[in-house]
Amino acid sequence: MPHYTGSCHCGTVRFEIDAQITQVTECNCSVCRKKGILHHRVAPEHFRLLSDDSTLGTYTFGTHLAKHHFCQRCGVHVFTRPRAAPHLYTVNVRVLDNYDIAAEQPTVVPFNGREWEASVAALNRHS
Ligand SMILES: [Zn+2]
Repeated sequence: MPHYTGSCHCGTVRFEIDAQITQVTECNCSVCRKKGILHHRVAPEHFRLLSDDSTLGTYTFGTHLAKHHFCQRCGVHVFTRPRAAPHLYTVNVRVLDNYDIAAEQPTVVPFNGREWEASVAALNRHS
């Protein structure tokens, strides 16, 4: 499986993942839309945080179930522990150092996070 490293802008937060990134998710919820995040889900065994836990900021809102993590120094959003699957990491593909979105052209899958309950129910019906 390909190996990628991710980091915030100032380099304080660093992580690495093993992932086959053929598709990314663009969520239209109030926070993802404003941050411009492109998500890719990674299982915990394929995610390693290389920097200290204490460098991570955590933003929550609404139900406070999703944990949105960012660098406390430069503010860049690095990954989320999602509400629908809190055991997983959804990495912000835009912060990967060796993944070129323009060159790789992953399929961008829209997720209607604005109507989260209905969207998750629909996903569960399909799987
Ligand atoms: Zn930073």
